[in-house]
Amino acid sequence: MSLLIIRLLVFVVLFWAGLRLYRMYRQWKLSQDNHDDGQPAEREAQNMVRCAYCDLHLPENDAIRHEALHFCCQEHQQHFLDEGPRK
Ligand SMILES: [Zn+2]
Repeated sequence: MSLLIIRLLVFVVLFWAGLRLYRMYRQWKLSQDNHDDGQPAEREAQNMVRCAYCDLHLPENDAIRHEALHFCCQEHQQHFLDEGPRK
C-alpha cells in the first residue's frame, strides 16, 4: 500500500516537474519567436520599391503593383503602359 502511495507521489512530482519544464520551454520559445518575428516585420515595413516610371522610392504597401513592376500612382502606371519608361 505504501509502495502505491510512493509511486503516486513520484508520478505527481514527475508530472509537476514536467509541466514546469514545459511551461519554461514554452515561455522561452515564445520570447525567441517574438524576437524573431519583430525583425522581419520591421524589415517588411521598410521594404521600399521603385516606381518604374519616375524612379520614386516608396513603401511596397503604398505602391501599385503591376506584374513585377511597382508604381507610385495609377497615373504613372498608365503612362508606363502607354509610353514605356520615362526617358
Ligand atoms: Zn511614379
